[in-house]
Amino acid sequence: MDGHAEESIALPTTTSLREAAPGAPFALALHGGAGGLIQELSSEEISAFENGLAAAYRAGEAVLARGGHAVDAVTATVVELENEPLFNAGRGAALTSGGGVELDASIMDGSGYAGAIAASTHARNPILVARAVMEQSLHLFLVAPSRELLAGWGLESAEQDYFITEHRVQQLARIQAGSFAPRHGTVGAVARDSDGRLAAATSTGGMVNQSAGRIGDTPMIGAGTYARNGFGAVSCTGEGEAFIRGVVAYDIVARMRYAGTGLASAVTATIEQELTARGSSGGLVSIDATGRVVVAHNSPRMFAAFHDGAELVVLT
Ligand code: ASP
Repeated sequence: MDGHAEESIALPTTTSLREAAPGAPFALALHGGAGGLIQELSSEEISAFENGLAAAYRAGEAVLARGGHAVDAVTATVVELENEPLFNAGRGAALTSGGGVELDASIMDGSGYAGAIAASTHARNPILVARAVMEQSLHLFLVAPSRELLAGWGLESAEQDYFITEHRVQQLARIQAGSFAPRHGTVGAVARDSDGRLAAATSTGGMVNQSAGRIGDTPMIGAGTYARNGFGAVSCTGEGEAFIRGVVAYDIVARMRYAGTGLASAVTATIEQELTARGSSGGLVSIDATGRVVVAHNSPRMFAAFHDGAELVVLT
């Protein structure tokens, strides 16, 4: 499969927004990255992305349907996306300028706990390591977690060969030859469980052709990921530097918390003021305390899935 969606230049456009009103006892929304020209994908490729997004939705939904915790639901969803090589996270992640992978991930429980890792070169599922940092360490943010640490937490390591796909090798070669601008394709999820608890999780290989050591918004709590019970949860994708400058995920929840703004208005204001105004593109999935879902982006496209009350909606 060649010609993935993140290989084209994505200038910000007007904000596209989809909203699902609360109704079910639980709710989940996920994204598989923003940006790119979907027109370059064949119908076979589009269905592969749709299948990957739907499978990830089902993984998280299964957790919520049996009364599980929002943190378990976003973890299950992101693990599924990390294992699917189509997306820029875990296996199939974007390559750095040196041709390797450096993976970032973070997770936040709406009760206030969080965990994050950055520049991980061998954690098979970065989101599981971020979660272990949250639950099994005294820390919040670890860079390049060691194999020994992973083994101590019972988590699997993998060699670089596991993560690097032929598609990504070719993509990097084309970009380094000047053919395409670096694009993105992170994965993430937000959930509200049937007890009203919120969570958010995000995982990425970063920007294609990024320098070794470059870290974007994904593992930064408040920039790419944020959750606060009683208000909202957000997972972002796009040009990480702009999301960090705008502290985008937190900015949305802060508008809700301090100004009483509704989710859709908060999302629109933050995207317009923190991203579009800076000429930066991206998108996000978000949820409020009632289970209302808002999926929005100012990039031409965003891969996402959520339930609109009647059926599963998959955006490609
Ligand atoms: N936000 C990610 C980063 O800057 C990239 C992406 O969303 O695809 O590392």
